[in-house]
Amino acid sequence: MASIFSRIIAGEIPSYKVAEDDKYFAFLDINPVAKGHVLVVPKHEVDYFFDLSNEELGGIMAFAKRVAAAIKASFPCNRVGLSVIGIDVPHAHIHLVPITKGSEINMSNPKLKLESTEFEAIAKLIASNFK
Ligand code: 5GP
Repeated sequence: MASIFSRIIAGEIPSYKVAEDDKYFAFLDINPVAKGHVLVVPKHEVDYFFDLSNEELGGIMAFAKRVAAAIKASFPCNRVGLSVIGIDVPHAHIHLVPITKGSEINMSNPKLKLESTEFEAIAKLIASNFK
């Protein structure tokens, strides 16, 4: 069965997309720890991040770099942090979070409750800065 992220990529489940190319897809985490919390996933469904091929690992990092630049241009932060967990969704993904200190990327932190209009505005802003 396709993962929930494959169904999002296919457009079967809605998401707040910020960027995509032929191999990778980036969208807002629905339970964000910060405004600008983005997930970057390969379109090729693989469960465990380190089971991605070396080519895919290089490709997803290069794509995430472009998304991180767009997040940094969209939200005040010192830098964009990166985390790979993958315990909840068995489809490899990178969390990107704008941070000013390390504790802000802790996924156990309280999640923000945002209205759909806020998610839409955040996705639009990041997408507008994606190059
Ligand atoms: P992890 O697998 O890295 O532990 O966590 C999975 C992440 O995916 C969580 O931060 C969770 O909020 C996010 N997530 C799970 N299901 C969905 C979904 O249907 N849509 C979106 N946008 N994010 C999701």
